[in-house]
Amino acid sequence: MSEQAKCDFCSELDPRWSYPATDFVALQIGAILSTSEGSWAACDTCRDLIENGDRNGLADRSAALWVVANPDSAEVMECLRRELRRIHDLFFTHRTGKAQPIPAEVRG
Ligand SMILES: [Zn+2]
Repeated sequence: MSEQAKCDFCSELDPRWSYPATDFVALQIGAILSTSEGSWAACDTCRDLIENGDRNGLADRSAALWVVANPDSAEVMECLRRELRRIHDLFFTHRTGKAQPIPAEVRG
């Protein structure tokens, strides 16, 4: 049973786009590393924001939808938004090409 695909930016289900990217370390706390591996999935809305270069809009959307899914994190939303923006900036640096449509059979 595979986990349902989510947008890597806002966690919306069933993203239709995939951005190729090289691997990078998204987060490092001491010896703990969180690595981004390979491509990033994006929903239609996030793709539009990415294509328009609207990084603030992308971070706003990602943080807002995170808080909808995780209401306990509402009080740290601004901190969360800054962290998402930082990781998105790394994504923009490591992106290697244009969005590719994800075929329906892969999306499931
Ligand atoms: Zn999205």
